[in-house]
Amino acid sequence: MKQPKCYANHYDNCSATMSNEHCLSRAVLEIIDPTGMVRVVGAPWLNGKEETISTANLTAKVLCSKHNSELSVLDAEAGRFFKAVCETEKILLSARKNPQHAEYKFDGNLLERWCLKVLCGYAASGNFQTGIATRPQPSWVDVVFGKWPFIDGHGLYYSWDEGDTVQTVVNHAGVFSLIRNGIVCGVRIALAVNSFTLLMEKPDQTTRLKKHSLVPVNGYRPIEICYTDGISERRLRLRWTVPGDQKIVTVGFRV
Ligand SMILES: [Zn+2]
Repeated sequence: MKQPKCYANHYDNCSATMSNEHCLSRAVLEIIDPTGMVRVVGAPWLNGKEETISTANLTAKVLCSKHNSELSVLDAEAGRFFKAVCETEKILLSARKNPQHAEYKFDGNLLERWCLKVLCGYAASGNFQTGIATRPQPSWVDVVFGKWPFIDGHGLYYSWDEGDTVQTVVNHAGVFSLIRNGIVCGVRIALAVNSFTLLMEKPDQTTRLKKHSLVPVNGYRPIEICYTDGISERRLRLRWTVPGDQKIVTVGFRV
């Protein structure tokens, strides 16, 4: 069965019902604001305004129930990862007298596929800044569902100016499409102090994405993001089936 609006309907095995898919996973939205209300900026339907909206209303019917539930493992890993990110400031502050050196492990492959799921959901629902709904190409959907790996050079990049320090973690999120020659080629997901760039084309190795007028990109598939205030450390380690730059990104905190 094919649900006309399910972007995975080329598998011909949709369920009878459509799901209310959170384009940015519910688990992540609840970390951004546990009260269930989030501030939304830049959505095409807001016409340039800002609004505080219930997370229950930030859904779109872009996947059938079966295909949505098959991807719940991606949402779970993203939720676990961003919870660890967003807790960082509080934990570093509370650990000033008893320094902590904590390490957490995550599956980078699942996070990378989750970013592509966000890209597909935003594209299919017309929630990118252009407001135009575009069906994700089936080859991308195959990567989201783990049926096919990312092409070498495609995938997750961490964006950070090395040497910078941040003063605080703000629980906010932003999702921005990356467009080249009128075609969506990736997505930038800003969560708290982090900026993740998912690219579905190879970056130009000499300019390292600058042609896309993106934020700086510091590492393809980083193996660790280390948050430190000089006293305590929180290391978020990422495991990859196919390694990238093997880079450790250090984010300095002034708390
Ligand atoms: Zn389906």
